[in-house]
Formats: sequence, C-alpha cells, structure tokens
Amino acid sequence: MQLLSVLNQLVPKSPEPIGSEKSAGDLCGLSIISRSGSRAPSWEYRVVLCMQGSFGDSRVSTDIYMKWLKDYCEAFYYGLTVRILSPVPVSHTGCAFRVNEYTHNLQIHAGHLLNYLKKKKPKDAFCIVGVTMIDLYPRDSWNFVFGQASLTEGMGIFSFARYDSDFYSANYKGKLKTTKKLSPADYSVFDGYYTPELSSKLLLRSCKTLTHEIGHIFGLHHCQWLQCVMQGSNHLEEADRRPLDLCPICLRKLQSALGFNIMERYQVLQKWIEDGVNETEAGLSNDGRAALQKPVEAFKESYDWIVKCLHVLQK
Ligand SMILES: [Zn+2]
Ligand SMILES: [Zn+2]
Repeated sequence: MQLLSVLNQLVPKSPEPIGSEKSAGDLCGLSIISRSGSRAPSWEYRVVLCMQGSFGDSRVSTDIYMKWLKDYCEAFYYGLTVRILSPVPVSHTGCAFRVNEYTHNLQIHAGHLLNYLKKKKPKDAFCIVGVTMIDLYPRDSWNFVFGQASLTEGMGIFSFARYDSDFYSANYKGKLKTTKKLSPADYSVFDGYYTPELSSKLLLRSCKTLTHEIGHIFGLHHCQWLQCVMQGSNHLEEADRRPLDLCPICLRKLQSALGFNIMERYQVLQKWIEDGVNETEAGLSNDGRAALQKPVEAFKESYDWIVKCLHVLQK
C-alpha cells in the first residue's frame, strides 16, 4: 500500500473543493457555461449517455461503440452507473444545422442539442452527456466547437467528428459534394451521412474527451500538477499528448468524491483493455464481426501504466 501513502502526501493540504468551479471559458476547446455553488455529492451518481446520429455504418456499430464508452466511463468513474439512452436521429432534436463554409462538412448547433438534452435528463441523473460523430458549431459566427457544456445543469454535448484522422485531409469523406441550399426543416441530408471508421485512435480520443469533460462536470479543474487527463489543451495535438488517466492528485480528488478502492479501479480499467485484446486473439472475425472488435492497440501505453501502478499497490 505504499502508493496510497505517496498519493496522500501528494495531495495539497488545502485542495480546491470539488464543485467550486466558476469559469466562463475553457481551454479544452469547449464553451462552458459558468456554474455557481456546489453540487451536493451523493452515492447515487449516474451518468446518462445519449447519442445523436450514428457511429460507424450501422445501428449495430453505434450500439457497440456506445457500450465501449459506457464500460470505459464506469471503469474510470468507478462506482458510478452509466446508462445509455437510445440513439436519437438528428431530425428528432429539431436543431439547426449548416454546411461549414471552409471545411464543407455538416454541422449541428450545439446549444440546440443542449436544450434537447435538458428535456431528456432523467431526474435521478448526475449528468447527461450527448455524443455525436457530426461536427458542432456554437453560433453562426464561429467556425466550430468540440463541445459545449452547462456545469450548472450537469450536461454536455461533445463531437468526435474532428478526431477522425482524415478530418483535415483534402479527401475527407464528410465533405458535401453538392452546394445545394439546405432547407432548415429537411434533415434528409443526414441520411447516410459519412461517419468515421471506428479506429483505435478514435476510441482512445473519445474515452479521453468523455472522461475529461465529465471530470469538469464533477468540478475538477484543469490539472497543472502532473501528466493528467485533466490537463487543458488548446488543440488536438496537445489533447493527444495528455495521458488517458488521472494524475495521483486528481485521482485522490475523485476518490474522495466516489469513495472507490484505487486498486479495484485500476483492475477494472485493465480488464476493459484486456477484453479488447482477448476479443482479437479469440478470432471473433470468424463470425464476420471483425469490424466490431474493440480496437485497443492505441491503449498500449495506458495499459503499461496501469500494470505499473498495480505492481506498486500489490507490493
Ligand atoms: Zn477541459
Ligand atoms: Zn491531475
């Protein structure tokens, strides 16, 4: 149990209280609506994941991708229950959309999606988080936004569209070929719209974003201590440099909110990655599900870190 005592020593004597954040902006590329007061912690933490549009090329891949994210969030926020709501077609949200004049891809109005999520948030949920593979914009004059959150309301909407390795390339498949004028009520343009391949890098970036943003909803600030998933970032390259997991200080803060056993948490995180490796080795491709195996190659470095931590804890 050596690491535990090290962790305790690393925690500043007067850590910032969870839930005291009051920021109008955020360096992680998000619009954050400021919060005031603190959220009373309860043992019934529940996160609800809601999906707009689809992931991959079918309903099956959407469901599986959401399940990977749900399981990851439950391991990361160990002790927390995550529930997935049924995927919502963009047309059901009634939100505005446009084609970006520079990148020529479809974008949805983030604020309208937040309004939609607000109506969908169950009363017993700590937060509701919407995710989409379609790019977002916060207002007409803005080029794009990775996501938008309301900490006071406990909700956020995040897009993984720009995590596609091809997004900034000339042959990005999400560019609309036609320049026809879009009608505000005609959502048929979203039918069969391009969604990126469910790659390991996309999954890694999705996991990092979700846990970072839910961390903000928990009241965790940007970490200035060590290498940490809660570090702020100004662009994708910087976000990629962040590790997948929390530094000991932020981990201790989260532990004080959720009360988990640190070793158990590492074990479930380890298992989440191992399940992906095992699926690949078991050759599930035999029944044609090759594309649906959890791609975890990009998690190698994170896996090694978990193994190291467990090694210290088990001494
Ligand atoms: Zn952030
Ligand atoms: Zn940290």
